[in-house]
Amino acid sequence: MAQEQEGLTSKDLALVKAFAQSFAETSSKDKITPDVIKAIIEAANKPYVDPDAVARDRREREKSRRDFQEAQRVTALQQKNCPHKHKDGQNALNLQHNFPDGQARGICPLCFIYIQPAHWEFMAPDPVTGAERPHTVPEHPLYFMVREKEVMS
Ligand SMILES: [Zn+2]
Repeated sequence: MAQEQEGLTSKDLALVKAFAQSFAETSSKDKITPDVIKAIIEAANKPYVDPDAVARDRREREKSRRDFQEAQRVTALQQKNCPHKHKDGQNALNLQHNFPDGQARGICPLCFIYIQPAHWEFMAPDPVTGAERPHTVPEHPLYFMVREKEVMS
């Protein structure tokens, strides 16, 4: 009567015993240690990296870099060959006056060269002392054109 209430026959008990024994054998055979579990979890949580996507990203970065360098080269060439003058020979520079040193800057609308007088620039702080590192930038070789335009206007 008691066995009927529990619902287990001797055959069931034998099955449970056999299962427990085989489980214990399997566990000890595969040696599921905390290190193994940690490695499994790390492997499962590692994000999937698509090698095709990585290769495409690398190709696109290289192309962007090449395009940027080519654009810089073309811009430098245009600025070198630009007369900074309109077809009628007039000075084409546009002037900027809103600088604290009171000196004008010039921008050529044809090649976008930026012509500055001698001025201060601050480099990144010294990595050791953190001190500011100001230095003077010499006048642009074409600054005489800014002076010419300033006189004309
Ligand atoms: Zn120009």
